[in-house]
Amino acid sequence: MNESRILGLHHITAIAGNAQRNYDFYTQALGLRMVKKTVNFDDPGTYHFYYGNETGTPGTILTFFPWEGIGQGHTGTGMATEIGYSVPAGSLDFWRDHFTRLQVPSTETGERFGETFLSFTDPDGLNLALLVPDKNDSRPGWTSGEIGPEAATKGFHSATLTLKAIDPTARVLTDIFGYRLLSQEGNRYRFITDAVPDAAIVDLLETPDGKPGRNAAGTNHHIAFRVADSNAQMAYREKVLSKGLQITPQIDRDYFFSLYFREPGGVLFEIATDNPGFTVDEPLAELGKGLKLPKQYEPARAEIERSLPSLRQQG
Ligand code: ZN
Repeated sequence: MNESRILGLHHITAIAGNAQRNYDFYTQALGLRMVKKTVNFDDPGTYHFYYGNETGTPGTILTFFPWEGIGQGHTGTGMATEIGYSVPAGSLDFWRDHFTRLQVPSTETGERFGETFLSFTDPDGLNLALLVPDKNDSRPGWTSGEIGPEAATKGFHSATLTLKAIDPTARVLTDIFGYRLLSQEGNRYRFITDAVPDAAIVDLLETPDGKPGRNAAGTNHHIAFRVADSNAQMAYREKVLSKGLQITPQIDRDYFFSLYFREPGGVLFEIATDNPGFTVDEPLAELGKGLKLPKQYEPARAEIERSLPSLRQQG
């Protein structure tokens, strides 16, 4: 792993409606671990949920802002339109039965670039897919309930971005982030980085007649790329600026440090560090169990707890 490079995907953040429904789906239907229960740092009356593998390794982290009553968004150009999870070979039959039993809608199987997938939507209509990668994915999955190691998700396989024209976004991936075009299938262009073995793929889907998406429930808010530390991160800040793009200063998100910029195709990109990680404020065994607040909101904890929707958690 080259410490100065973009190390694939770090996390993806999406918008949900009801918090309990979101929690139940991602922990039970998809079998992820809740690794952090906190609030939106810009809007502490709203939860921020983080799901991942046991430790919340970058490349496995899916986060949500559940905003009750926000209304339905719709996917379209200028956003990430599918979240792909890597699953073990031979597990898609299990997943199809499991989703049928739980009445998960819109399941569909197919093949892309020689890899089989099962696509589905979450209760807010967010598009996801389980994919069997054509090479072994050695990342251990988080196992829980009926989802054992032979089926558990291993973390991200890929993210798909939908764009009116892919070129400006492709240049960010290749000229700034160090990705290369791997292959093309119809209007889907697969980009990959060799800096990491997994969570290394971004697919760009070109739809010249596509309508812009609307960012509300059931859509992705941004995708974050991974860097080892602040040194690597700040070098990328300079690279982004040198291409004439705007980018934020470094922001402390308590569990990582972040930079944000909007790539020319309209998708909000983030660059996030590995450090300090999710065990910075609670032990590994306790991740996700208690409500964690950034220190500026700790004095208002009682009020914040009263204003958040109640959440029933297992375990
Ligand atoms: Zn983020």
